[in-house]
Amino acid sequence: MAEKYQLFIDGKWRDAGDGATMPAINPYNQEVWAHVPVATAGDVEDAVAAARRAFDTAWSKTSPGERAKLLNKVADMLDADADRMALLETTDNGKVIRETQNQMGYAARIFRYYAAWADKMHGDVVPLDQKDTLDLAIREPYGVVACVTAWNSPVAILTNTLPAALAAGNCVILKPSEHASVTTLEVAKMCDKAGFPAGVVQVVTGAGETGAALTGSKGIDKISFTGSPAVGRMISAAAGANLKPVTMELGGKSPNIVFDDADFDRALIGALAGIFGATGQTCIAGSRLLVQRGVYDRMVEGLAGRAAQIKMGDPRDKETEMGTAANEPQFNKILSFIEAAKGDGARLVAGGKRADGPGLENGYFIEPTIFADVRNDMKVAAEEIFGPVLSIIPFDTEEEAIAIANDTPYGLTNYVQTQDPARANRMARVLRSGMVEMNGQGRAAGSPFGGMKQSGNGREGGIFGIEDFLEIKAVSGWTPDA
Ligand code: NAD
Repeated sequence: MAEKYQLFIDGKWRDAGDGATMPAINPYNQEVWAHVPVATAGDVEDAVAAARRAFDTAWSKTSPGERAKLLNKVADMLDADADRMALLETTDNGKVIRETQNQMGYAARIFRYYAAWADKMHGDVVPLDQKDTLDLAIREPYGVVACVTAWNSPVAILTNTLPAALAAGNCVILKPSEHASVTTLEVAKMCDKAGFPAGVVQVVTGAGETGAALTGSKGIDKISFTGSPAVGRMISAAAGANLKPVTMELGGKSPNIVFDDADFDRALIGALAGIFGATGQTCIAGSRLLVQRGVYDRMVEGLAGRAAQIKMGDPRDKETEMGTAANEPQFNKILSFIEAAKGDGARLVAGGKRADGPGLENGYFIEPTIFADVRNDMKVAAEEIFGPVLSIIPFDTEEEAIAIANDTPYGLTNYVQTQDPARANRMARVLRSGMVEMNGQGRAAGSPFGGMKQSGNGREGGIFGIEDFLEIKAVSGWTPDA
């Protein structure tokens, strides 16, 4: 029996005002496995009002130490419940279980990370201009934060915002994607159980209309959005009309630049993981592989051979290496990009169509697909696909690689594979992206995460992420002798 979920508003679980629901569909077998409410504008306004009440009467009076305790309790629950949570997320969006399990561990780690920041956000004493006065710069939470998120990694995405916003002292209203809402509601259950006061953490589920009602509300103080640039523009416009600050985590078309002097085997594995991990449905996918001529043919051949061996199947099976497209619209979108690349004359060297075979019949499976000899202005290289489609682009010189890498409206991340430290240093400085990752080392929990250009603004992660949820207030003119 498909489970029926409810909204979480003002500490209570309830149906949508008009009783409307939407189906949660398992992309592996297209079965409806849960029902999720579609919040009305009235439900959203109830949540906004409850958040304001909670902020004024309870949360703003809660000590940072107490906030930290609550966040740590959620972290413990995420750890204890990691297997079930991973299974739910895999059922909802087809991401393989080995990835969702890692992400639950990451979520617990980040809740603890921000719990530790809660009582450390000091202000400043400003150097005096006048005698007998004291000038302070103190930090305060915004109040009510709206977090609208995408479907590809719901828990990991909310983990990049929710604990930081709460540690900073804000109340948070979450609006997960209509394509994968369940695990966000499950995290709200944990917050409820941990003892967060009513109205501090709330979830309104639904599609774009629910998101628009939330981000267009005059009662919120700050918006955090993770999703596409197209929707980011709409939310920025709504935020602009109400003069609300926004943090945007948007799309990417990230270059992975492999120089002749790279550790070849490592670069090859990294390139595969960078585009076929998460079925390519990650904002930081290394979807444009720029390869220097000296290793170009060998790299194309090596990648094509390995891509054909990637094991697809039930995403809940630990042996499965690549899962499905997360939903039907995304599945169709990916296939249309593959057709466009063929039409533009890119050389198909692996995959190139819907995957079939035993166990794949009812799922939104797409073959790991690689195009070689791609030009940067072809649609397949210019636009974000958000799927398992790699574009390989050859280059001769470092200058050419930089020009191609930066020739994109996006600026989320760049990956660089080189064993030359001077080159690594040069590249880190000239690449126009919020993040640059050298030789596949990954990032620490404290690293800033976010993009330049149309990949977004503001930063999540580390101290930068919690600062993003705090305002600065000047307090001056106090006379100690008075
Ligand atoms: P999307 O923009 O279609 O939807 C994101 C969210 O916005 C959903 O919850 C949706 O219901 C909501 N929404 C839709 N219309 C709205 C409106 N008018 N007002 C308010 N909310 C509205 O994105 P998606 O398809 O869910 O996710 C894929 C995109 O997300 C990709 O571009 C990907 O790169 C990006 N993404 C970015 C990051 C990052 O951290 N930079 C992480 C994950 C995904």
